[in-house]
Amino acid sequence: MDIISKLRDEFNNKYTNSSKIKNLVEKLENGDVEYGQAHEFAIELGEMLANVFKENLSVDMFPDGKISYGIADKILNETLGKNYDLISDYSRDIQTIINKKAGFNIKCVRAEKNQSRIDNMVKKVSDDNFENVQWMFDEPVKNFSQSIVDDTVKANADFQYKLGMQPKIIRKSTGHCCDWCEALVGEYDYPYEVPPDVYRRHRFCRCTVEHRPGGKKVGTNIHTKKIMNSQEDIDERIRRYEKEIKENEITREKRKSERIKKSEEFENNKKATHLASKRIQELNEVEPSITSNLKEISKKTNGKMVGLEYRLKSKESLTRKILSDAKEADISLESASKNIKDILRYTIVYDEKDFVKSYFDVIDDFNKKGYNTIRIKNTFKDGQVYKGVNTIVDDGNGNLFELQYHTPKSIEVKEGGLHTLYEQQRILDKIKDIDEYNKLKNDMIELSNTIPIPDGIERIK
Ligand SMILES: [Zn+2]
Repeated sequence: MDIISKLRDEFNNKYTNSSKIKNLVEKLENGDVEYGQAHEFAIELGEMLANVFKENLSVDMFPDGKISYGIADKILNETLGKNYDLISDYSRDIQTIINKKAGFNIKCVRAEKNQSRIDNMVKKVSDDNFENVQWMFDEPVKNFSQSIVDDTVKANADFQYKLGMQPKIIRKSTGHCCDWCEALVGEYDYPYEVPPDVYRRHRFCRCTVEHRPGGKKVGTNIHTKKIMNSQEDIDERIRRYEKEIKENEITREKRKSERIKKSEEFENNKKATHLASKRIQELNEVEPSITSNLKEISKKTNGKMVGLEYRLKSKESLTRKILSDAKEADISLESASKNIKDILRYTIVYDEKDFVKSYFDVIDDFNKKGYNTIRIKNTFKDGQVYKGVNTIVDDGNGNLFELQYHTPKSIEVKEGGLHTLYEQQRILDKIKDIDEYNKLKNDMIELSNTIPIPDGIERIK
């Protein structure tokens, strides 16, 4: 079972079997509730979730002992999101009962989910080793859960204030918190009297914040006979409020998926760079011996090594190739990295008349040295875009390199006009720009047709 399903199951299990929750839900159904119960409910769910994390998350579950951004995002959004749903519904229902008891028949609003707080937690837990961030799955989870009640208090006070009512915010202490909390205890008219810190809660603080409706009741103004805050009026405001919340949610979702994509790209780049360094390092060790063997063979067979200074792909270009190959073939970066066989590559040039004989001389010399040509691609044929003999050689120890055989004319075409045309073609969309694509292809074939084909070339296969 994956981590997310496991956490979800464990939480649901605890939730349905909790006698405390059952009791609080019963109280709500009987209308026998005050804001204190919303806080109790939130504290209980916060502790429940923190326990689920404690019992089910461990360092050995994550590669390199670290939670990736993507996984952290899934875990925290699923679990804290679920707590948000449960707690904001419960708090809203309590607020509705409190309103009714106070004689205000006003629908209540759900608080907006504090997504940026979840996002910050995601960032924090994926920034460091699991052992260093494990505490984030405890107290901050409880604190977040209780803040959902505070957010409901605030949202409803604000909503009623905008309806022309005079809501009050009440902060209570558990009696044994700290001086900072004691100083905040009180009853405040919303919004002007409310101290900015009233919704703040330090770690391990279990003080509560409540909202009490007050002021004008819904009804007819006895002087003007004008209906104030009619039910339709209120319903319309609620609709608008909910629509706004929905729109905010959609915007945030969009931003979030962009952020995840970016972070995945970043992780992929890091991984591909690491793989590229590793492969280049491996080949660096065998390169001097392979290069000296090739130089010796080239001298003996009257060949000319060209582009020797570019024999090793740069780390940057190999990284790009690993990324693009993995994407194109939909394979892992590891597989893509393993499949690349031309990280070390050489080009040897022979005149047309000696080309085929020289090729077989090289093969003979290779055999003597234990080198084995494992792949041959001969495109010296009419109508080809590119002309040359491209081979992959095994040095006898599993180290692969590419060796290209060219004639003076074929290397000139390859490095001159052909390369330019290829670069133009590469950036085109094969479907949308098909005409331009085919035109460039024909240009390339035409150009390659100026290359004389060496005699007896069909023997190379
Ligand atoms: Zn406190």
